[in-house]
Amino acid sequence: MKRELSKNYKPFIDEELIGELCEIREDSGAIKAAISKSMEKHPLSLEETAALLSAKKTEFKEEIFNAARELKKNIYGNRIVLFAPLYIGNYCINECKYCAFRRSLRTTVRKTLSENELVQQIEALEDNGHKRLILVFGEHPDYTPEFIAGTVRKVYSIKKNRGSIRRVNINAAPLDIEGYKTVKAAGIGTYQIFQETYHRKTYAEYHPPHTHKGDYDFRLDGLSRAYEGGCDDVGLGALFGLYDWKFDTLGLVSHARFLEKAYGCGPHTLSFPRIRPAHGVQLKPEYIVKDEDFKHLVAVLRLSTPYTGMILTARETPEIRREVLEFGVSQIDAGTRIELAGYTRKEKGQELKKEQFSIGDMRPLDEVMLELLSTGYIPSFCTSCYRKGRTGQQFMEFAIPGFIQNLCTPNALLTLQEYLCDYASPKTKEAGEKAIQAELAKFADVAQREKITRMLDGIKNQDKRDLHL
Ligand code: SF4
Repeated sequence: MKRELSKNYKPFIDEELIGELCEIREDSGAIKAAISKSMEKHPLSLEETAALLSAKKTEFKEEIFNAARELKKNIYGNRIVLFAPLYIGNYCINECKYCAFRRSLRTTVRKTLSENELVQQIEALEDNGHKRLILVFGEHPDYTPEFIAGTVRKVYSIKKNRGSIRRVNINAAPLDIEGYKTVKAAGIGTYQIFQETYHRKTYAEYHPPHTHKGDYDFRLDGLSRAYEGGCDDVGLGALFGLYDWKFDTLGLVSHARFLEKAYGCGPHTLSFPRIRPAHGVQLKPEYIVKDEDFKHLVAVLRLSTPYTGMILTARETPEIRREVLEFGVSQIDAGTRIELAGYTRKEKGQELKKEQFSIGDMRPLDEVMLELLSTGYIPSFCTSCYRKGRTGQQFMEFAIPGFIQNLCTPNALLTLQEYLCDYASPKTKEAGEKAIQAELAKFADVAQREKITRMLDGIKNQDKRDLHL
């Protein structure tokens, strides 16, 4: 693989500026101005984001939380998109100090799913009702763009009963432009790369310079090359707990603003995982993010990037997920198993020698569905935009006028109806049917309501599947 940089690349993370912005004093005027700009659905600048991060007084933080709740409702309604991660291989040539998959950790059990095992995992996920996956790969010469592309094609080809995976996202190492063309051609959704931390010095401490991942600029430029390789949707992320949470929140916003400016399209998703205990890993407590600060950063990210999906994973406990969900999260995983071949494993609990880190939420998908339905959310397995070509800039064009809600909610109800018919427990089915009727009653457009009602009936009584707008 050629370790070339994209044509637009320049180091766009201004560490000095971000460092100063992390130290600014709380200013009620600046906080209110940033909130009102965000409520107009305008992305925020670094300075405006920093003003929100500087909030200390409870009253200002409450204003930020309330604004994030409202903005989320205005743009995303009450739907929550569900997915599951699937680890394909944990061989890795890197030495990331926070990771149980690092090369030198000999006690980690290494594995790459065989084709048969891949089929078994996909069938198990389909039997649970999943439709959207993110495939996860270590960085290793075996995991070439061709291997990743082949795996994606195989996943789309596996259909058990009424099961099918309709969108496959990727979390893997940065590729060169030719590599992205190869995986894009296989029909991937989002290509996700986490910068881990935007603070160069800290990055070098955790990612030894002699390793592939030690190349800060090649990684930072990774998603720019993805765009130049034809990928439409990209996902950013930082691993909170490596360095100052305000710094890396501003790093994420800088990255989003850079992509918008350079490629006319911001990230499709943002991830903000907090570092977790892992096999063979000694965590440094210095920058561990407290729950209160975590809620603050999620709300601020919501307000700073109105049109970017926000992913909250099962790293967090059900309690934290319940609380943070309302501040702007639009996607969560559920029924998650991160052990290689973990979806067919009968035993409960984690086996950390086989896993990248410990997770906080191992509830089955159906249990998470029932909780979402019982707390006013509409769980969605929608993959329509991606399959209708509403991706990248085109998605943003749809999203910005608010039109997307007129597509998202109906599509969420259609995928929910499928789940209720094919996979739900009796309790979840009852809660789901009630939620669908309640949502339908909210449709002001009678013609739209009748159309969706007919489509729902097609799923329930005429065995139709995969209906979407
Ligand atoms: S974080 Fe990723 S690249 Fe780093 S050691 Fe772990 S699997 Fe490898």
